[in-house]
Amino acid sequence: MRAEQKTQQLQEVVEQLLRLVGEDPSRDGLMKTPERVAKMFNFLTKGYTQDIDEILNGALFPIKYDEMVIVKDIDFFSLCEHHLVPFFGKCHIAYLPDKKVIGLSKLPRIVEVFSRRLQVQERLTQQIAETLQEKIKPQGVAVVMEAQHLCMMMRGVEKQNATAITSAMLGGFRTRRETREEFLQLIKRSPVQKGASFWRHDDESFT
Ligand SMILES: [Zn+2]
Repeated sequence: MRAEQKTQQLQEVVEQLLRLVGEDPSRDGLMKTPERVAKMFNFLTKGYTQDIDEILNGALFPIKYDEMVIVKDIDFFSLCEHHLVPFFGKCHIAYLPDKKVIGLSKLPRIVEVFSRRLQVQERLTQQIAETLQEKIKPQGVAVVMEAQHLCMMMRGVEKQNATAITSAMLGGFRTRRETREEFLQLIKRSPVQKGASFWRHDDESFT
């Protein structure tokens, strides 16, 4: 679908939504809302049309360095696929190079590509880790994501400060406990079990 056509259809859907919640889409404050929301959704889901190889654009460099590379506290914003409201927080990434490293600025770009889609935190974490494993071919990759989910915060008083933590550990981070712990120590988090998430978003108590 052409971009303008898509934006036009999104606007119509938003206008319909406004009517269904009991609003008058023609009143002053809402006149431009369908257009704004359509543009916003295009932006918040732009990850579907972005190409990882284009973003990496050959930013892999041969190097004799095999110590852990860490980029922590990468801000991310995503949309929960169950409720279409944001979840957001910090992403921490580490890898163990095997003869090549990637330009550091590329890591937040990769987080961005997968965040700007409809997601669940568990899959988002895994996709970032697997992409790095595939593209850099390092000896291991670790990704930890900590997030707050508005769909939880806006609906339950007792869950307002809950943070969901997910992790994906591949290669050396999965097989070597001391490597994993070094990483967790460097991002100053208590040990997280590999692949663990202690709050499940599609929990039955929360639909
Ligand atoms: Zn949700």
